[in-house]
Amino acid sequence: MQLVISNLSKLYPNGVQALNNVNLTISEGMFGLLGPNGAGKSSLMRTISTLQEADNGSIFLDELNVLKEKETVRKILGYLPQDFGVYPKISSEQMLDHIACLKGIGNSAERKETVHNLLNRVNLYTDRKKNLGTYSGGMKQRFGIAQALLGNPKLIIVDEPTAGLDPAERNRFYNLLSEIGCNTIVILSTHIVEDVRTLCNDFAIICKGEVLRHGNPDKAVQEMEGKIFTCNTDKAGVHLLKEKYQVISVQMKSGSLSVRIYSDTDLGNDFKLVSPVLEDVYFHQIASRMDVVTL
Ligand code: ADP
Repeated sequence: MQLVISNLSKLYPNGVQALNNVNLTISEGMFGLLGPNGAGKSSLMRTISTLQEADNGSIFLDELNVLKEKETVRKILGYLPQDFGVYPKISSEQMLDHIACLKGIGNSAERKETVHNLLNRVNLYTDRKKNLGTYSGGMKQRFGIAQALLGNPKLIIVDEPTAGLDPAERNRFYNLLSEIGCNTIVILSTHIVEDVRTLCNDFAIICKGEVLRHGNPDKAVQEMEGKIFTCNTDKAGVHLLKEKYQVISVQMKSGSLSVRIYSDTDLGNDFKLVSPVLEDVYFHQIASRMDVVTL
């Protein structure tokens, strides 16, 4: 199964070009979508989820024309949006039962079994009778993934699912995503760059509506081998370095500024060659489009 996005563009009425000729082919497995705020990630995911129209281009899931055959797509789609409201005075069990009904699982015994299986899977079975309004952020997200998994979707889209979760909740949530069957496409948008390396076999970086990079995260990191240098300096030093080198990120570390520089050639003894991480790939790509180093 493949999701093929071709020449997809979207211009909002306020003049913002949110998607600019996006081309992406996504295969089964976990696909990570990275990009700064306003890059167009949600616009892309809402378009794939049939929630908004594109101006140009096409999206096909194998033979299925996603932009035209919306009802068919919705039957095989699981979508967890960035912000989703819950009805506070209804339990997760009742709510999932209701959604299962809407998804066409008419037989009540079958529905009950499906809902209980899902509640077990997302570790909410013991809390199934509690009202959704009493759930913690992590529990709500796990409920969200349960509703997205109803009906065994072939295409699952999750938009920044771990915002607001503590590290333990985040791990639990990702373990859950990783357990999703292998004949499924999971598109995950996140701000946590290293999570993409851990979880995804394919990823893309988008910025200003354009795909800057698409490929395997490990390969992308390997390509940066021998090209990332660091040094410690102060604010004035960063400005000088920026004039001479391609500074891709600056971080405050124990009172001084730790600078990471991309260079195709050895920078000599004043700099330390370090092992690259996926964040270097990300910042290197983004820096080509916008100033990411602001002090
Ligand atoms: P991301 O999810 O990467 O933060 P979005 O797709 O939400 O990016 O937004 C991309 C750009 O489109 C931003 O500049 C945003 O302000 C703009 N935008 C998003 N939704 C709308 C809308 N409904 N109307 C007008 N502009 C929008």
